[in-house]
Amino acid sequence: MKKIFNFSPGPSMIPHKVLLQAQNELINWNHLHFSVMEISHRNKDFINLVEEFKNNLRILMNIPKTYKILFCQGGARTQFAAIPMNLLNYNQNADYANIGYWSYKAVEEAKKYCIPHIIKTKKIINNIVYIKPMIEWLLNNKSIYIHYCANETIEGIAVNEEPNFKNKIVVADLSSTILTKEIDVSRYGIIYASTQKNIGPSGLTVLIIRDDLIIKQNYRKEIPSVLNYKIIADNNSMFNTPPTFSLYLSNLVLNWLKKKGGVKHIDKINQKKANLLYSTIDNSKIYTNNISIKNRSLTNIVFNINKKNIENIFLKEAEIQGLYFLKGHSILGGIRASIYNAMPIEGIETLVKFMNSFEKKYI
Ligand SMILES: *Cc1c(COP(=O)(O)O)cnc(C)c1O
Repeated sequence: MKKIFNFSPGPSMIPHKVLLQAQNELINWNHLHFSVMEISHRNKDFINLVEEFKNNLRILMNIPKTYKILFCQGGARTQFAAIPMNLLNYNQNADYANIGYWSYKAVEEAKKYCIPHIIKTKKIINNIVYIKPMIEWLLNNKSIYIHYCANETIEGIAVNEEPNFKNKIVVADLSSTILTKEIDVSRYGIIYASTQKNIGPSGLTVLIIRDDLIIKQNYRKEIPSVLNYKIIADNNSMFNTPPTFSLYLSNLVLNWLKKKGGVKHIDKINQKKANLLYSTIDNSKIYTNNISIKNRSLTNIVFNINKKNIENIFLKEAEIQGLYFLKGHSILGGIRASIYNAMPIEGIETLVKFMNSFEKKYI
């Protein structure tokens, strides 16, 4: 059978080994004679699993003791509302860096709960898209926090530098890059990420939050309890029933990553993968990517084919080679290869080989 590679942007590929383990344990987890989906979230074995998950994440991301890990639901989008609700009183200000689609969706939601100041970050020079370095972002004095999306999953644009804003709480949407490279958690107030890009199946949102930001909230009485960080933390993320299967499978992925050598190791592989793909694009006569090298995403690689009406042929022929879900987001068109941690370098090599032969055929 031909090997299949899944370039889906999310929900996305899960390591094959993890799927096999889940299959193997599906009807009898931990010798309990039930699947993990069929037991209470108050079950001792299940609570142990949640603790193991947190511990794994702490080790993998080197999370300081002064941070808590919360499990939320409703995806990253729910956090677009929960963040201003939890961090701000009525009519307070917050900075929002506008980098792309998800940045803007966060602003639209935040408008309901605060006064967002949009920071323009994009410059286009000679048709190349740049994101201004953070030092040039014009923050507002009155803003309580600065929110940004470190990797715009749809456009393939990334802020690859680490935040360094004095006296500002940094809130970052890392949905598409969490665990793909080493970061310094202590520079952030809140990191959040829905799991379906890089960790596991959908249904779960991981929140890494500095302790003092949990206690701070209290004024908005109308915050739904399920979105209230204090209530979530006080109930060990089990105020309401958590998505137990997502927690289970995501934890298997963390164990897989640990065994592979952790984030430091996968970071090197991810760079290699992205370099291979970008150099193929840059050396080609038909593929184009107009994002500055500094701001290119390492996880979502977007490109166009500068020949008319050829994209569909590209996608069809790619599938014949076992390369799936390369279609760009509907708002942008083009091609997008999402290459998160689970994508092996072999997948990129196969894609690059296909791209080269496609170019020869259609040039
Ligand atoms: C996918 C994605 C989201 C939306 O996540 P949901 O879980 O669907 O709410 C938000 N931000 C980024 C950066 C994403 O990649």
